[in-house]
Amino acid sequence: MGHAIEFFQADAYARYFKKKLGKENVFFNVGVDEHGLKVFTTAHDHDTTPEKYLDALVPEWLSFCSKFRIEHDHFYRTSAEDHHVGSKRVWEICNEKGDIYKKHYEGLYCVGCESFYLERDLIDGKCPDHGTVPVKYSEENYFFQLSKYSQAIISYLEENPDFLKPAAKKQELLNFLKDMEDISISRNRKNLPWGIEVPNDPEHTIYVWFDALTNYIRVLGFDNDLERFNSWWPGIQICGPDNLRFQGAIWQGMLAALGLPFTKKLLVHGTIFGPDGQKMSKTIGNVVSPLEQYEKYGSDICRFYMLGVLRPYTDSSYREEDLKEAYNAHLANSYGNLLNRIIHLGNQKDIDILDASAIESDFKAEVDEMKNKAEKAYEDFELHDAVSIINEIVSKGNQFVHEKEPWKQEAEDAKITLNNVSYLIQVASELYEPIIPDGAQKAIETLHKKEKLILFPRMK
Ligand SMILES: [Zn+2]
Repeated sequence: MGHAIEFFQADAYARYFKKKLGKENVFFNVGVDEHGLKVFTTAHDHDTTPEKYLDALVPEWLSFCSKFRIEHDHFYRTSAEDHHVGSKRVWEICNEKGDIYKKHYEGLYCVGCESFYLERDLIDGKCPDHGTVPVKYSEENYFFQLSKYSQAIISYLEENPDFLKPAAKKQELLNFLKDMEDISISRNRKNLPWGIEVPNDPEHTIYVWFDALTNYIRVLGFDNDLERFNSWWPGIQICGPDNLRFQGAIWQGMLAALGLPFTKKLLVHGTIFGPDGQKMSKTIGNVVSPLEQYEKYGSDICRFYMLGVLRPYTDSSYREEDLKEAYNAHLANSYGNLLNRIIHLGNQKDIDILDASAIESDFKAEVDEMKNKAEKAYEDFELHDAVSIINEIVSKGNQFVHEKEPWKQEAEDAKITLNNVSYLIQVASELYEPIIPDGAQKAIETLHKKEKLILFPRMK
């Protein structure tokens, strides 16, 4: 679910901005990070090779994307040849700049995090995220001079309050940046044979994050197609809370070393807990699987719940009762009901519900004002707020029908009522499209065909 929400949020923004700016002006990259000790040991545990393990896993992610209508422009694999080329170039440039050096290192490594920990960061000697005892190791590693760039990143963070969302994460990132040390960026190949070889030193593998993070620029043509690259970078990144230090600090340091602009915006979503409010875990048995939810409810309902009910930047519990309640309240009883009433009344009274000349200008102005607010929420990267405003627009439509009672009105007046509401439904549907692409598109079609269709049946 933690991954699902990332894909859903990114897709909703990509859809919104594609509609607003044109498809050609948005590039939406998703993908998988395929290296690291975790992949290597998991493949080993499954009695297979990392290549075979990943080749079986990646189609599952592609199927996930197609089921949940994730319209990505690119699906990135860090095992791809082009990524290896790009990643090695990043290493070489940092090395030529004198930002990489070799030293003997003894450290504590959490395989789950693919990250080093200092003794003081551990809780009872265990990884704070995984609750596992980190592996102690001692070897000669390459180091990246991250400390050289910490001040520049801190200044960027201070001068650009819009860089990091939510603002509440700023202190956590600052604390990390303030005592940021240089980081180990290689593993001895005999301990980790899976991953990208360090240029000119085949005995070492590039640290998984130092390799994976470069996807953000390579996909846009870094060191390959300068014109294309410059037309896109800097971009917006979405990540989970356990990724803050990698994307907010290490990656920004790498960009500084490469002489490139920092990331434009970093959106850090909340953690999705199980229905009991606990971290999802197989041991506790509170894991909610996105594919099971898909089989039960389909794409729109899961997306509506995760984007419109859960708050984007705070931790939430995934509760199916809440999902059903929100669906019934907003999609079945409000949006779907309004759509059906208007089509039914239009057909019954033989009124054209798509007559733009019958829309009242005052009513249109009110709807447009709400539309502007919803758009502003999208542009402020506040999906929950955007959905709340769209829900309000639909409620306004229902309230209007309730007050005007068009079934009692004379034909001329009823025509105005129905066309006002038909306009409102079209506005709401356009705004809902990034959240519930299937239902919103179908609603517009249904309105145009004037056919009665239960798009959102009530759920028990
Ligand atoms: Zn960990």
